[in-house]
Amino acid sequence: MILSPEKTIVHLDLDCFFVAVSRLMNPALNGKPVVVGGNSDRGVVSACSYEARKYGIHSAMPIKLAKRLCPEALIVHGDYEMYTKKSDEVTEIIRDKVPLYEKSSVDEFYMDLTGMDKFFGCYKWATELWHKVKKETGLPSSFGLSVNKTVSKVATDDVKPDNNKKVDRGTEKAYLAPMSVSKIPMVGEKTYQVLRQMGVEKIHTLQQMPVELMRDVLGENGVTIWQKANGIDDSPVIPYSERKSVSSEETFDQDTIDVTKLKSLLITMTEKLALQLRLETKLSSCITVKIRYSNFDTHTMQCRVPYTNCDHHLIPRVKELFDKLYNRRMLIRLVGVRCSHLVGGGYQINLFEDSQEMIRLYQAMDNMRRRYGDNAVQRATGLGFRLRDFNPFNGIRKGVAGAVARNEEPRAKSQEPRAKIQEPGVRNQEPGVKIQEPGSKTSPVGATVW
Ligand SMILES: [Mg+2]
Repeated sequence: MILSPEKTIVHLDLDCFFVAVSRLMNPALNGKPVVVGGNSDRGVVSACSYEARKYGIHSAMPIKLAKRLCPEALIVHGDYEMYTKKSDEVTEIIRDKVPLYEKSSVDEFYMDLTGMDKFFGCYKWATELWHKVKKETGLPSSFGLSVNKTVSKVATDDVKPDNNKKVDRGTEKAYLAPMSVSKIPMVGEKTYQVLRQMGVEKIHTLQQMPVELMRDVLGENGVTIWQKANGIDDSPVIPYSERKSVSSEETFDQDTIDVTKLKSLLITMTEKLALQLRLETKLSSCITVKIRYSNFDTHTMQCRVPYTNCDHHLIPRVKELFDKLYNRRMLIRLVGVRCSHLVGGGYQINLFEDSQEMIRLYQAMDNMRRRYGDNAVQRATGLGFRLRDFNPFNGIRKGVAGAVARNEEPRAKSQEPRAKIQEPGVRNQEPGVKIQEPGSKTSPVGATVW
């Protein structure tokens, strides 16, 4: 039997990222209770400093309530252009140093150092990187180093802020044992309550339980939680690629110069891509629009955007890009939209401008779409506009992306085509939907696709 090599995994997480960036821009915030969030009374807290947490303030809480809990708290309106910029800076430092890293959210990274050096060498190396991040970006962070992602993440959270921890090989179980089960990644409030009702509070108790019992109570998730509790986690570090993307494009039956129609279609496409990002809990920070003229000349234009998965942030940028691109009043054969530079993450980065009502509106719309199909709710401008669900040249129906199909609730008779998450270099099999590495030219007519 060939044993896979023992791994060395580092988890690095920026401390209080949004607050830290706000403090870099305004040092008067240092040492004070700081709340980052929307500046209207209906806004919510998207992040808060350790000083503010002492007053019971936490993220997703209404700003109004935070002000009541701590009247002297300094409320800062988030500058999410800056957050994206600083997140990119950290990514660049890591990219320069590590061949295999995963950007799991705006402020969180996993690095696979397996085979790089002996264990202590890796710790020294990670410590140097940690100092470098702080020195070059001004941002404090924490890191954990161990044999897998779970234990490293637990270690980071355990020692935060501005600290690090090495969990020696073979000591994972003992290290986790005295901690609360709530420290295990993926144990949320609901699972925590289930475990508490079973009389399980410490990880040690979970370690002693038969795995079958966890399966009976929590299904396959129970098995994963049990493994994590025992320091077992084989999940790989998934290489980050800015080129990984979701996209959608549409070829017209008849070429058109109807700008209203073209924009309506782009809006519908963007809504669907944003929905897919939300279902996948991903954020995008780069948007690309593509047009192909009737003579097959193809043009694309892209712009960076603050990390988002909300249509109302993406649509204005898509329209701007289209206006810049469409400058020859010629017939158009195809339009497309692509979101790339994807990282994991929920709504959080949009919370700076968005009110509770806006967030609830998105949640309600997404639930309706999950239950009744993608067309259950649409912008008025896109109404009556359905994306084609078959290829007009061969009549083949487009498939449903596995990623979306994984979604827990089955979709009700949705006839819509699904955009797909694409790995760089992978070409979609469907005619009319092509994605590949930017800059490569393969089209027989010399057009650059994506
Ligand atoms: Mg963080």
